[in-house]
Amino acid sequence: MILVKYIKLTISLFLCLLLIGCNPKSKEINSNSIYLKVLGTIQDGGIPHLGCNKKCCKDYFLGQTKRVGVSSLGISNLKNDKKYLIDATPDINFQLKELIGNENFSEKLNGIFITHAHMGHYAGLLNLGKESYNSKNIPLYSMPKLHDFILNNGPWNQLVNLNNINLVKIFADKELILDDNLSLTPVQVPHRDEYSETVGFIIKGNLKKALYIPDIDKWNKWNISIVEMIKKVDFAFLDGTFYDSNEINNRDISEIPHPFIIESLDLFKTLSKAEKDKIYFIHLNHTNPVLNKNSKEYKSVISKGFNVAETGMEFIL
Ligand SMILES: [Zn+2]
Ligand SMILES: [Zn+2]
Ligand SMILES: [Zn+2]
Repeated sequence: MILVKYIKLTISLFLCLLLIGCNPKSKEINSNSIYLKVLGTIQDGGIPHLGCNKKCCKDYFLGQTKRVGVSSLGISNLKNDKKYLIDATPDINFQLKELIGNENFSEKLNGIFITHAHMGHYAGLLNLGKESYNSKNIPLYSMPKLHDFILNNGPWNQLVNLNNINLVKIFADKELILDDNLSLTPVQVPHRDEYSETVGFIIKGNLKKALYIPDIDKWNKWNISIVEMIKKVDFAFLDGTFYDSNEINNRDISEIPHPFIIESLDLFKTLSKAEKDKIYFIHLNHTNPVLNKNSKEYKSVISKGFNVAETGMEFIL
């Protein structure tokens, strides 16, 4: 048993070392390391997007591009051989395969954290149910309103009643110690909160902290300064749903309940080079031109010192 664990750890470390070579962000990995993996980068509706006849989705419908999932992060704790998933997206089948591999999810997935009850962030939970994987007692960490929503509404409460998931309540600004080298803290953000509150997460590892906010209303609607928050973390995965108003037929940008990337670039322009380099735009709508690395918009984001998240990117915390 110990030998099997040792071999698994050795294989994991070997794979990680291989990855270090291609990821400049990954340094100093050791058996105490926490690493964060981007499992998807797209807005709730995914890509290809239902009913989209535009150029953005054409190749995806034809199956001519690599699959890119809805926004999600995976956390691997090498020290304790534990894994956590942030957001259960409609692409959870692929994303858990990426995170856990061929092993038993009920045993190897130590928890799912949900940012809020919008399709792209929790609909994937249904795959854990009796009709599909039929998982056993996977902890589901959720804020109080989301907790009650799941408990009191089908089909979600069937997952609870059949013990596919175990609900665990979490609270805004309350650090949850998961392991001796890992904690998560929910930070509440303004968003369309029909069924649940919306949170981002601060993920704190041995050495570094990451902030994940896939959905938020405009930055100035938040009672916390995002600029100050960026200074306190090492990586910030931030809502980049739309690049600018061209994507939404030039509707008044103040009406759209997301910070446009161009608004964020403007807000963050006074940050130092090192602070800008922490920022990765994520939760990209299918129409977002930064999904295309040849676009002038993508090049503009990069040339200004910021990053665009990509599926498969890894970060050591
Ligand atoms: Zn979303
Ligand atoms: Zn499209
Ligand atoms: Zn949302």
